[in-house]
Amino acid sequence: MAVIQTNKSAMLYSEANQYTPGGVHTSIRNVDPHLIFTTADGAYIYDADGNRYIDYQAAFGPFVLGHRHPYVTEKVIEAIQRTDLFGVGTTDLEIRLSEKICRHVPSADMVLFCNSGSEATYHAIRLSRAVTGRRKLIKFQGCYHGWHDYVARNMLSAPDMIGKRDPGSAGMMDEAVDNTLVCTFNDLDDVEQTFKANPGEIAALIVEPIQHNIGCVLPQPGFLQGLRELCTQYGALLIFDEVITGFRHDIGGFQKVAGITPDLTTMGKAMANGFPIAAVAGKQSLMERFNTKPGGDVWFAGTYNGHAVGTAASIATLEMMERHNVHEYIFRLGERMRQGIRDIHQRLGIKAYVAGFGSVWTTYFLENEPRNYTDLMQNDAELYVAYRRKLLERGIFKLPMNIKRNHISFSHTEEDIDYTLQCIEDVLKELKES
Ligand code: PMP
Repeated sequence: MAVIQTNKSAMLYSEANQYTPGGVHTSIRNVDPHLIFTTADGAYIYDADGNRYIDYQAAFGPFVLGHRHPYVTEKVIEAIQRTDLFGVGTTDLEIRLSEKICRHVPSADMVLFCNSGSEATYHAIRLSRAVTGRRKLIKFQGCYHGWHDYVARNMLSAPDMIGKRDPGSAGMMDEAVDNTLVCTFNDLDDVEQTFKANPGEIAALIVEPIQHNIGCVLPQPGFLQGLRELCTQYGALLIFDEVITGFRHDIGGFQKVAGITPDLTTMGKAMANGFPIAAVAGKQSLMERFNTKPGGDVWFAGTYNGHAVGTAASIATLEMMERHNVHEYIFRLGERMRQGIRDIHQRLGIKAYVAGFGSVWTTYFLENEPRNYTDLMQNDAELYVAYRRKLLERGIFKLPMNIKRNHISFSHTEEDIDYTLQCIEDVLKELKES
């Protein structure tokens, strides 16, 4: 198999490094080989050297319909030909989108728009503190909820830092780090002990209902229900961070699938199929504390909130889901992929676990289903790097980190899946022989 040519990417990357630290505009985008992307179309992305890849990274998840989906593009263009942004008032697009979200997402009596998932989780946590008059927050080891000080601890901790104080960044406020308590996913006893050890102090518990930031660690039966009950019992708000799961697994979010209603929900990514918009939603009595309502005492603001581009894209994305069997289709392809990979592992005698839900899958090079971040320390990271690299050389683009997930969109075809499976089989055979 010929090694792909990436000379133009390499040249442009050295130019990028002159102007931008590390040549990239977000952490963990800096991977080997460094590719400069020029074009995206449906299920495919193209680099500066003209190499085509089937894209399963999906920019970390937004592309539930595929890149530059024609209907979404058309609606965005239509919107920006007549409107853009107003510093005051409300747009017709904001109202239409709010109505859709409140109709579909069980926990959403009311919704507010912002521009990124980090903003959404920040607002939800600040609101929880205001409502409860408490300071502390519970999150889970391995969950990611954005870059701000409230949540950026114990994300992808090194093995010796699991369960310890592990700020994700230099420069974080000690007070924020210390008021965020970290529990083990799928361990209700741990959560209960944490509530008991901090009586009357925990404002909220924030959780990814499926741990997609470490691939696909599913909540075990009863776990989300248990969190709901513990939060109610101890007077804390339950926040479902559905920035990845929302709209990807169901138009009503994973809360609809699981039948558990949180107090607050944060959304982003698949909400607008790649255009920038995010949301925080929840019970009316909570949401009306935001000072978008006169008399509210929780500050909520943003110059670009409700911009025509994001709102039009989100309306179009949700319309696609309302009118077409988007989830049925992507779930079917997801199952075809997962089963196909399991069959390959069996044929070749590879010890690996294929996890997933709906349109998402992750191959872990470990034997048993992982239940939390610690379990993933058994994963063979070195093998993953070689596996990903060989797949890249065959035109398959997966997330660069060994415990991340892959996404299938409405633009992928059965042929894409079958070609990918063929490549996976070839690569695993090669790796086995080497
Ligand atoms: N929550 C979750 C579950 C996420 O996966 C992410 C981003 N990966 C965020 C919040 C933060 O979103 P953003 O990058 O848009 O700020």
